[in-house]
Parts: sequence; C-alpha cells; structure tokens
Amino acid sequence: MSDTLPRLVLKFGGTSMADAERIAHSASIVAAEARTGRGVAVVVSAMAGETDRLLSLATSLGGGLGEVETDTVLSAGEQVSAALMALALQRVGLKARAVMGWQLPIEVDGPPGSARITGIDPHLLDALLDQDTIPVVAGYQGVSADGRLATLGRGGTDLTAAAVAAALQAECDIYTDVDGVFTTDPRIEPAARRVGRISHDEMLELAAMGAKVLQTRSVEYAKAKGVVLRVKSSFLDAGSSAGTEVVCPADIAERRVVSGVAYARDQARLSLYGLDADGAQAAIVFSALAEAGVGIDMIVQARSRSGDSVNLEFSVEGKDLDRALAALRRHLDEMPGSACAHQTGLAKVSVVGTGLRGRADVARTLYEVLRSRNIAVRMAATSEIKISVLVDSDWLEHAVRALHSAYGLDQS
Ligand code: ASP
Ligand code: MG
Repeated sequence: MSDTLPRLVLKFGGTSMADAERIAHSASIVAAEARTGRGVAVVVSAMAGETDRLLSLATSLGGGLGEVETDTVLSAGEQVSAALMALALQRVGLKARAVMGWQLPIEVDGPPGSARITGIDPHLLDALLDQDTIPVVAGYQGVSADGRLATLGRGGTDLTAAAVAAALQAECDIYTDVDGVFTTDPRIEPAARRVGRISHDEMLELAAMGAKVLQTRSVEYAKAKGVVLRVKSSFLDAGSSAGTEVVCPADIAERRVVSGVAYARDQARLSLYGLDADGAQAAIVFSALAEAGVGIDMIVQARSRSGDSVNLEFSVEGKDLDRALAALRRHLDEMPGSACAHQTGLAKVSVVGTGLRGRADVARTLYEVLRSRNIAVRMAATSEIKISVLVDSDWLEHAVRALHSAYGLDQS
C-alpha cells in the first residue's frame, strides 16, 4: 500500500450509476485509483431515478415522508447500487465488498427522512482496507439508536461520502455528470470556465445556483472536519477530469476577488409598511413565516420617513409566495396602520468570492454595470463573501453575462 498518497473516498451519484454500462465505467475510475496502491473506498447513490420510483411506490401505499417504513423502502436503492458496484469491481479483478449503513454502522439521529450522522465506526472499513478489499458503502442511510434504518435527506449520499472520508482521514472525490464548478452557468454564458480551487463557503454559494452539484450539508460537514472535496466528472475517462477542489481559503494561493456569478430564478419580493419601530411586530411576522415553512432570503429594513415606524422588505422563492401572503395577512389584520405589497417576476443574481470581504469596488462595479444597461436593482443584500441583487426576470441572463465579463471571469 502507498505510504505517500492519502486514502481516497470516491463517491458516485445517480447519473454515474444509471445503468450497467455507467457502473462499469465508474468502476474503471475506481480501478485506476486503486492500482496506484492507495487505500480506496467507494460510496454510491441509488441509480438515477430510483429513489423517486421507490418513493412513489411507498406513497402509493400510504407511506409518508419521514416515516420509518418509507425510509426502509428508500434505502434499498443504495443497497442495490452498492452491490452492483462491488460486482463491477470484482469483474475487473479487484477485491470489493458492499457494505450497508447499518453494517458499519453509520449511526444517525433525528427524524427519518432527514436524519443526521452522529458517528461512523471505522473498524470494518479499516479491516477491509488492510486486506486490500475495496469497501463499497451504500450512501444516504444509517441506523438509529433503536436499530431502525433512516435516510439522510435527498442528495444525502454526498454527506455519507464526506463522513466516511472524515472517518478514514481520506480525501473525497465526488463524481457527477459535470467536470466541476463553473464561474457561472455555461448555458447562460458559454465563456464560463471551470474553477480550479474554491473555498467551502464559495462552493455553497455557487452550488446553490441551478445544478445542485453538492448537497449543502456535505459541504458544511467537510468544512467542519477539514475534508478536502473534489467535484469531478465520471463521464470522462479515468484520470482525465480536472474538476474543482474545495479547500480552506488559506490553501488558495492566487485568488480572484470574485470567483463566480450565481443566480436563482422565480423570486418574489414582499414589502411590509408601518410596523412598530421596536421590532416586536417584525418578530411576530417572521415567526409566522417560519411556522408556515417559508424560507426568507434577503431582508432589508428601513425607517419610515416620519421615523416612527419601520418598513421591511424581503425576498422569498416564488413557490412560497402564496403561503407567505396567507401567513402575513392573518397577522397584519391585527396591526393597525400596517400594509403589505408584493412583486413577482424577479430573479436573484449573486456575485460570490472570498476576496470580496471589505472591497467596496466590487459593489461599485456591480451597480455601474447594471445601471449602464438600465437593469433596475429591486433589492440588494450582502454577506461576507457575496453581494446579491434582485432584478426583473427578463433581465437575468443579460445581467449574469454582463457581470461575468465585468469581473474578468471569462479570462483565464
Ligand atoms: N438516492 C438519494 C436521492 O436521490 C440520495 C442521493 O442520491 O444522494 O436523494
Ligand atoms: Mg446529488
């Protein structure tokens, strides 16, 4: 076994496990890594579409989301693909064994359907690796303290992979159908480039756009445990996907101020006028929205002109708007002098980069670029590594392209 290379966990998602041919190709990528002599473990998702198929079977018989029997049905998808991958590895002459979450065990806590990993026993993995046998771990599942199967939430195999990597002190390659993370969506801007290295926080912001490359919790987990993640394509030949490496900011040497332009369609803006200045009514409003399960994104608060009340504006996803309005109306009726308005047909554009911290020129460029193209900013909000604006949907693609080029992201 190689002393120089750290152990490696390779994770294959649904599209990389879609049929026997794709599984065989993914196995060839595992084989190439295993032949370098480094310790290799594999974590797999269910075959593409399988979890949805199992879910509809369970619901057709009354199984609700978050019920243990439903989870037991859902976890079967990963059981099948782990064993198929082990067979594919054996066929090319490698020793491999499929391992279910409960066999390790991967211990989990919390509600079925969105359990969280509390611990992984590495003994079986270590023993298999010592015998040059590749463990193929079924993702997305674990076992609760009372011995029942539980799943980790959709996309949860990424989390299994990050956790197995942490338990083995390994690096973690996540194989998917794109060759890494891009400076923006190539369908909008063909000049978008692959980002070579990125921090966990930037990854979270950029992955939230369009194609969800990595499950959010897996990136947070990797960040907390210091696991190096790489996003790679299983649709290329072994060794030829350059991918994107997700590392600590300190490990990124040459650094751009802006690393990408992300976007989200179908946003709505809600405006509340005339709330008490002491914040008590705002607190009631936000708890009502939270109870209704409405996710709030940007929030802007301003004093009214007279100064004796505040106005609040915030954005929600278009699909949550009706629920948000219903929840608000119930409370605003009891708040004399308050009023509510909303606007739909908006989209969010975000400029993301660790180098943004404290750089006012980034905001200046953003406003200049949008103003020179007559694109109105309907709302703006910032975080440490991101500036987001709401614009009219019709202008989204235009805004993404203009900002992508203004920050030089189309130049290598
Ligand atoms: N098979 C599960 C899902 O579709 C978990 C995963 O693929 O990560 O959500
Ligand atoms: Mg996924």
